[in-house]
Amino acid sequence: MARCPAHKDNNPSLSLRDANGKILVHCFAGCSQDDAVAALRERGLWPERVKRDLTRADRRDYARKRARARSLAEDALLWNESDLLELEAEKSQAFSRYESDPSVENEGALECAARSLYVAEQLSGKTLAEAYLVAVKTDPARVRRLISKSKENLEDAKLCTKNLVTVTAARESR
Ligand SMILES: [Zn+2]
Repeated sequence: MARCPAHKDNNPSLSLRDANGKILVHCFAGCSQDDAVAALRERGLWPERVKRDLTRADRRDYARKRARARSLAEDALLWNESDLLELEAEKSQAFSRYESDPSVENEGALECAARSLYVAEQLSGKTLAEAYLVAVKTDPARVRRLISKSKENLEDAKLCTKNLVTVTAARESR
Protein backbone atom coordinates (compact mmCIF):
# COMPACT_ATOMS: atom_id res chain seq x y z
CA MET A 1 0.00 0.00 0.00
CA ALA A 2 1.14 3.51 -0.78
CA ARG A 3 -0.07 7.00 -0.07
CA CYS A 4 -2.59 8.01 -2.67
CA PRO A 5 -1.41 11.17 -4.44
CA ALA A 6 -4.93 12.05 -5.57
CA HIS A 7 -6.25 12.88 -2.14
CA LYS A 8 -4.76 13.94 1.20
CA ASP A 9 -3.74 10.50 2.33
CA ASN A 10 -2.17 10.11 5.77
CA ASN A 11 -3.07 6.47 5.96
CA PRO A 12 -1.69 4.66 2.89
CA SER A 13 -4.77 3.62 0.95
CA LEU A 14 -3.47 3.14 -2.57
CA SER A 15 -2.95 -0.39 -3.74
CA LEU A 16 -0.59 -0.97 -6.68
CA ARG A 17 -0.47 -4.36 -8.28
CA ASP A 18 1.40 -5.72 -11.23
CA ALA A 19 -0.85 -7.99 -13.25
CA ASN A 20 1.21 -9.45 -16.11
CA GLY A 21 3.03 -6.21 -16.75
CA LYS A 22 -0.12 -4.12 -16.43
CA ILE A 23 -0.27 -2.00 -13.30
CA LEU A 24 -3.56 -2.07 -11.44
CA VAL A 25 -4.30 0.93 -9.23
CA HIS A 26 -6.98 1.09 -6.59
CA CYS A 27 -7.58 3.77 -3.98
CA PHE A 28 -9.51 2.41 -1.02
CA ALA A 29 -10.52 5.94 -0.05
CA GLY A 30 -12.54 6.16 -3.23
CA CYS A 31 -10.51 8.09 -5.81
CA SER A 32 -11.10 6.96 -9.35
CA GLN A 33 -8.37 5.02 -11.11
CA ASP A 34 -7.99 7.85 -13.64
CA ASP A 35 -7.43 10.41 -10.89
CA ALA A 36 -4.90 8.24 -9.10
CA VAL A 37 -2.98 7.51 -12.33
CA ALA A 38 -3.05 11.20 -13.33
CA ALA A 39 -1.66 12.18 -9.93
CA LEU A 40 1.05 9.54 -10.13
CA ARG A 41 1.91 10.67 -13.65
CA GLU A 42 2.18 14.28 -12.51
CA ARG A 43 4.78 13.21 -9.96
CA GLY A 44 6.69 11.19 -12.51
CA LEU A 45 5.80 7.99 -10.67
CA TRP A 46 3.96 6.36 -13.52
CA PRO A 47 5.95 4.16 -15.89
CA GLU A 48 5.17 5.67 -19.26
CA ARG A 49 4.90 3.25 -22.07
CA VAL A 50 7.44 4.25 -24.66
CA LYS A 51 5.59 4.95 -27.83
CA ARG A 52 7.32 3.29 -30.66
CA ASP A 53 6.46 3.99 -34.22
CA LEU A 54 7.76 0.88 -35.84
CA THR A 55 7.74 0.84 -39.57
CA ARG A 56 6.89 -2.32 -41.40
CA ALA A 57 10.59 -2.80 -42.18
CA ASP A 58 11.46 -2.39 -38.46
CA ARG A 59 8.93 -5.02 -37.54
CA ARG A 60 10.21 -7.40 -40.19
CA ASP A 61 13.76 -6.80 -39.02
CA TYR A 62 12.72 -7.45 -35.41
CA ALA A 63 10.90 -10.66 -36.36
CA ARG A 64 13.96 -11.83 -38.26
CA LYS A 65 16.22 -11.12 -35.30
CA ARG A 66 13.88 -12.96 -32.95
CA ALA A 67 13.70 -15.97 -35.24
CA ARG A 68 17.48 -15.99 -35.56
CA ALA A 69 17.89 -15.72 -31.77
CA ARG A 70 15.47 -18.61 -31.25
CA SER A 71 17.29 -20.84 -33.69
CA LEU A 72 20.63 -19.90 -32.09
CA ALA A 73 19.25 -20.80 -28.67
CA GLU A 74 18.04 -24.17 -29.95
CA ASP A 75 21.43 -24.89 -31.50
CA ALA A 76 23.15 -23.86 -28.28
CA LEU A 77 21.07 -26.38 -26.32
CA LEU A 78 21.75 -29.15 -28.81
CA TRP A 79 25.46 -28.30 -28.79
CA ASN A 80 25.61 -28.35 -25.00
CA GLU A 81 23.80 -31.70 -24.83
CA SER A 82 26.30 -33.48 -27.07
CA ASP A 83 29.21 -31.62 -25.54
CA LEU A 84 28.24 -32.92 -22.09
CA LEU A 85 28.03 -36.50 -23.36
CA GLU A 86 31.49 -36.25 -24.93
CA LEU A 87 33.02 -34.60 -21.88
CA GLU A 88 31.50 -37.28 -19.66
CA ALA A 89 32.99 -39.99 -21.86
CA GLU A 90 36.37 -38.23 -21.81
CA LYS A 91 36.26 -37.98 -18.05
CA SER A 92 35.45 -41.66 -17.57
CA GLN A 93 38.27 -42.60 -19.97
CA ALA A 94 40.65 -40.37 -18.05
CA PHE A 95 39.49 -42.01 -14.85
CA SER A 96 40.14 -45.52 -16.20
CA ARG A 97 43.63 -44.49 -17.30
CA TYR A 98 44.32 -43.01 -13.89
CA GLU A 99 43.02 -46.13 -12.16
CA SER A 100 45.32 -48.43 -14.06
CA ASP A 101 48.27 -46.03 -13.78
CA PRO A 102 48.01 -43.33 -11.09
CA SER A 103 50.85 -41.25 -12.51
CA VAL A 104 51.04 -37.49 -12.02
CA GLU A 105 50.36 -37.06 -15.72
CA ASN A 106 47.19 -39.16 -15.63
CA GLU A 107 46.04 -37.42 -12.49
CA GLY A 108 46.45 -34.05 -14.19
CA ALA A 109 44.54 -35.28 -17.23
CA LEU A 110 41.71 -36.54 -15.03
CA GLU A 111 41.51 -33.23 -13.18
CA CYS A 112 41.43 -31.35 -16.45
CA ALA A 113 38.64 -33.56 -17.84
CA ALA A 114 36.63 -33.20 -14.64
CA ARG A 115 36.97 -29.43 -14.74
CA SER A 116 35.86 -29.18 -18.37
CA LEU A 117 32.80 -31.28 -17.59
CA TYR A 118 32.01 -29.19 -14.54
CA VAL A 119 32.24 -25.95 -16.49
CA ALA A 120 29.97 -27.29 -19.25
CA GLU A 121 27.44 -28.50 -16.67
CA GLN A 122 27.16 -25.03 -15.15
CA LEU A 123 26.21 -23.36 -18.43
CA SER A 124 22.68 -22.10 -18.68
CA GLY A 125 20.79 -19.18 -20.10
CA LYS A 126 23.12 -16.30 -20.85
CA THR A 127 26.36 -18.12 -20.03
CA LEU A 128 25.30 -20.97 -22.31
CA ALA A 129 24.61 -18.55 -25.15
CA GLU A 130 27.98 -16.84 -24.64
CA ALA A 131 29.89 -20.13 -24.49
CA TYR A 132 28.09 -21.29 -27.62
CA LEU A 133 29.07 -18.16 -29.56
CA VAL A 134 32.69 -18.58 -28.47
CA ALA A 135 32.63 -22.23 -29.55
CA VAL A 136 31.18 -21.27 -32.94
CA LYS A 137 34.06 -18.85 -33.45
CA THR A 138 36.86 -21.10 -32.23
CA ASP A 139 35.79 -24.50 -33.56
CA PRO A 140 32.80 -24.30 -35.93
CA ALA A 141 33.40 -27.82 -37.29
CA ARG A 142 33.11 -29.38 -33.83
CA VAL A 143 29.99 -27.32 -33.09
CA ARG A 144 28.34 -28.51 -36.32
CA ARG A 145 29.28 -32.11 -35.53
CA LEU A 146 27.90 -31.90 -31.98
CA ILE A 147 24.64 -30.31 -33.11
CA SER A 148 24.00 -32.92 -35.78
CA LYS A 149 24.82 -35.64 -33.26
CA SER A 150 22.20 -34.21 -30.89
CA LYS A 151 19.67 -34.10 -33.70
CA GLU A 152 20.46 -37.73 -34.53
CA ASN A 153 19.93 -38.66 -30.88
CA LEU A 154 16.64 -36.81 -30.99
CA GLU A 155 15.59 -38.76 -34.09
CA ASP A 156 16.72 -42.01 -32.44
CA ALA A 157 14.71 -41.20 -29.34
CA LYS A 158 11.63 -40.42 -31.42
CA LEU A 159 12.01 -43.62 -33.41
CA CYS A 160 12.54 -45.59 -30.22
CA THR A 161 9.36 -44.15 -28.68
CA LYS A 162 7.42 -44.84 -31.86
CA ASN A 163 8.59 -48.47 -31.92
CA LEU A 164 7.76 -48.85 -28.26
CA VAL A 165 4.25 -47.53 -28.83
CA THR A 166 3.72 -49.86 -31.78
CA VAL A 167 4.97 -52.91 -29.87
CA THR A 168 2.90 -52.09 -26.77
CA ALA A 169 -0.22 -51.42 -28.80
CA ALA A 170 0.20 -54.71 -30.66
CA ARG A 171 0.60 -56.56 -27.36
CA GLU A 172 -2.44 -54.86 -25.83
CA SER A 173 -4.65 -55.75 -28.76
CA ARG A 174 -3.76 -59.42 -28.59
ZN1 LIG B 1 -7.15 8.42 -3.16
